[in-house]
Amino acid sequence: MKIICVGRNYAAHAKELNNAVEEEPVIFMKPETALIPSKFPFFYPEFSTDIHYETELVIKINRIGKNISEKFAHRYYDEVSLGIDFTARDLQSKLKAKGLPWERAKAFDGSAPVGEFVSLKEVGNVGDLHFTLLVNDEVRQQGHSANMIFSVDKIIAFVSTFVTLKKGDLIFTGTPEGVGPVKPGDKLTALLGDKQLLSLDIK
Ligand code: MG
Repeated sequence: MKIICVGRNYAAHAKELNNAVEEEPVIFMKPETALIPSKFPFFYPEFSTDIHYETELVIKINRIGKNISEKFAHRYYDEVSLGIDFTARDLQSKLKAKGLPWERAKAFDGSAPVGEFVSLKEVGNVGDLHFTLLVNDEVRQQGHSANMIFSVDKIIAFVSTFVTLKKGDLIFTGTPEGVGPVKPGDKLTALLGDKQLLSLDIK
């Protein structure tokens, strides 16, 4: 499986990092080794001193598809969760300044914890989902999927032009504003509506 991520998909977040709002989705990938088994912690890596959380709505692809049209994209998923797109912001800034790929800052081991998946039948329309990140019980991020620049269906159509999507692939759909650093000892909790889907300790 693969993890496809969208960058700069919420205008207020693009602005907080001084990034332009793009005309096409910004896409990057993480490998399967970026996942964290459930109940395991995130281990702060030695190569960075500025790891940031980015809370994102995650879509699970349920069938194979290539060149999927936006109109039919909704047939390719029926479950969602929340994930953290951990980013080594210090390393990413260096790579961005040189115009180099972001992988070292984005695709490292444990950089994509994902919570429990829930059926859209249960939680409702993918374009009308509210989510929250708590760090040590304090609200740090709140997002609403209606504020995405590129909708889930647009992302699927765009990505599948280049890359075949397969059952089990995950799509991280971008983070709203409020990103920030974590430190060992922190506890991250992500909620979809009022339903807790992810709980993660930083070690
Ligand atoms: Mg992100």
